[in-house]
Amino acid sequence: MKITKQFRSETAHIVRNAFSERCRFNVHGHSYLYEVSIAGEIEEPSGMVLDFKQLEPIKTFIDQFDHCMVLWDGEQDLFKEFFKLNFKRVIIMKKNPTAENMVCVISRFVSQWLADAHPDCYLENIRIWETITGSATGRDFDKDDVFVFISEDCKHG
Ligand SMILES: [Zn+2]
Repeated sequence: MKITKQFRSETAHIVRNAFSERCRFNVHGHSYLYEVSIAGEIEEPSGMVLDFKQLEPIKTFIDQFDHCMVLWDGEQDLFKEFFKLNFKRVIIMKKNPTAENMVCVISRFVSQWLADAHPDCYLENIRIWETITGSATGRDFDKDDVFVFISEDCKHG
């Protein structure tokens, strides 16, 4: 059985090396919709794979990205420093903040959390809608942490 829960964040980024010049040369934002699907057996007596309320840690993790500027570590130092100095909510990632790489970041967290807290369940996939018409779906992730910097405001809500 598979359950799916949606989460949301309003997040700004800039995607260097994107095909679109609008994305490549402009800081801009998206209303991200995250669909996290988890598979497992139906447990008795609850009759559930997991109670949706048990997925709060995923909400907390994704909330780090809300009203946040997400940057690639490959940006110029001056550019990164500007945001770190003048913005309270900043995340710097080793990889470009594309929907695909965001899937990898969230997948890593959810897979590790499930292994620790609910080892009978596993991550089926994560779909991240960056726009109303465009999404990335997968469950791949890097072994190493992809975060280079997370500002205190992101860590603590
Ligand atoms: Zn974008």
